[in-house]
Amino acid sequence: MTNKKMSWTKVLGRLIKYTWHASPATFVLLVISSLFMSTLGFLEIVSIKTLFDNAVDVANGEAIELIYKPIIGLLAIVALYPFGEWLEYMAQGYFWRRGSGYMKFLHHNRTSHMKSIEFEDSTNIDNLKKASSGSEDAPSGLRIIVQILFLYIPYILSLLIYLVNINPVLVLVIVLIFIPTFLLERIRVEQSFEFEDKMGNRRRKTEYFEKCIISREYFKETLLNGSFKYFLRLFTESNKEFSKEFVSTKRHILKSSVCMKLLNSIGFLSVLMLLVYFVYSGVISIGLFAAIYYSISKITTMLRSAIEAMGGALVGISNTSFLIRLLDDNCDLGKEADIPKDQDIQLRDVSFAYPNARGNALQNINLTIKAGTSLAIVGENGSGKSTLTKVIMGLYDPTKGEVVYGDKALHPYSNISKFKGISAVFQDFVKYKLSVEDNIKMSNITCEMATEDSLDKVEINLPELNIKGNTILSREFGGQDLSGGEWQRIAIARGLYRPHNLIVLDEPTAAIDPIEEANVFESFKRISIGKTCVFVTHRLGSTKIADRIIVMDKGEIVEDGTHLELLNMQGRYYELLQSQAQWYER
Ligand code: ADP
Ligand code: MG
Repeated sequence: MTNKKMSWTKVLGRLIKYTWHASPATFVLLVISSLFMSTLGFLEIVSIKTLFDNAVDVANGEAIELIYKPIIGLLAIVALYPFGEWLEYMAQGYFWRRGSGYMKFLHHNRTSHMKSIEFEDSTNIDNLKKASSGSEDAPSGLRIIVQILFLYIPYILSLLIYLVNINPVLVLVIVLIFIPTFLLERIRVEQSFEFEDKMGNRRRKTEYFEKCIISREYFKETLLNGSFKYFLRLFTESNKEFSKEFVSTKRHILKSSVCMKLLNSIGFLSVLMLLVYFVYSGVISIGLFAAIYYSISKITTMLRSAIEAMGGALVGISNTSFLIRLLDDNCDLGKEADIPKDQDIQLRDVSFAYPNARGNALQNINLTIKAGTSLAIVGENGSGKSTLTKVIMGLYDPTKGEVVYGDKALHPYSNISKFKGISAVFQDFVKYKLSVEDNIKMSNITCEMATEDSLDKVEINLPELNIKGNTILSREFGGQDLSGGEWQRIAIARGLYRPHNLIVLDEPTAAIDPIEEANVFESFKRISIGKTCVFVTHRLGSTKIADRIIVMDKGEIVEDGTHLELLNMQGRYYELLQSQAQWYER
């Protein structure tokens, strides 16, 4: 994503385009409902004026019929208000949901073309989060702008024109109401931002300590460690500090807000006095006095809600620029092609560095994986095993060198072409909160095949676990949870269900005990006959079944051979195996 600043007009233009595309009817409905409300508001003012003026005339001896018309008019307006509000409410809700739904769709669609490496760059991740919050909040920001343009501004403008037509000096009244109220509301909103700015950090800290005490994921550990008192103390201290800062910040803010309110009240009083003077000197009628008095509170409410909503709206709209940047970023989708996964895979002088990382995670790797054979990758933590598997699969493009499948270098091709025919079980595999079946079938959604076969292969027996294929694997959604080992088997079953000629397993058995792990790999070997299999393990008991083993150290391959060859070498592999031998002694 580029970091160029984007002009407001461009962002707004795009936002209008997206929300229009999401639902033209809703857009039109929002404009119409706003205009409708502003018209009602204006007619209400006119009716109030007429009613009061005519009432005065009636008091002075005119016929009573004179007030029927304005009363009926006002009644009609009052009756139409709930309808208008309902229309406005529906239009606003739809406008936001439909707009945000469409923008999320664009965002999600674009995400599917992203490269895995883009999620390893913290600035990029931050920008993606902003893009996502833009798609959530921006339509609601635009809704406020539409409301300002088609409700507030027409209302105030029509009132202004109406008053000027009666007497130009009345503009002064509107200005006297408008400017102080606008300033007061702006300051009020600024102060509440300032308050959140000051207090936010302290509040989050206090809430975090509370979470350590009462939330489900912390409870076990806090209970076992006997840390309740510790967190209670942290919470109490933080809460005390919070209260202290809260009161002093609030006091400071209140002081200035009281002064502002006082000034505002003085302004209001002067307007009132000015109006009384106008009535007294015959510039305006009693009716107009009443109408203006009534409209003051209305304008105040409008200004308040507009200014209050504007802060959040602007943040949402400005975050849309991240979404636009993402969508405009002409990402190279890559070519489509059939990349053979049943041929030799070659890594030619491959190096790889994570974004913003200091050194290389992989260094000058040369490796040929023969089709249909199994390769075990071993080595200490952080030696580059997981990274190597991701580069082999094409999830990360090498920063130097190339990965070649058969005779095709992998990097110019699309995600779909690259990953077709590859199955992977990651070290940090995902526990989807879906049913057992969906957890497996998702790796091959167009396939109708039952999941029993895959479950059998990983030795999962559903009745034994007291669950069914449609049981949701999450307590949160009314289902049941599994143990770590069982989850790993489900993840492997998912990998097996996907059609593949290459399967990559990154420590898929860490939660299973070492002896059982050897069994899983043994059955794995049976299943994957004729397929290329790359697996990472830090337990050397399982490596015997591999046709070939490589030992990684600091991003380099330091030993390479069969189990026996490496044993005879008496090098790193031998040492690692010796140190782990006791795991396998019964
Ligand atoms: P292994 O799987 O052998 O434990 P990894 O391949 O996960 O090792 O990590 C190799 C090296 O790359 C380590 O030094 C690790 O700190 C670094 N590394 C891993 N993931 C990232 C990442 N997302 N961003 C930056 N560095 C990373
Ligand atoms: Mg790893």
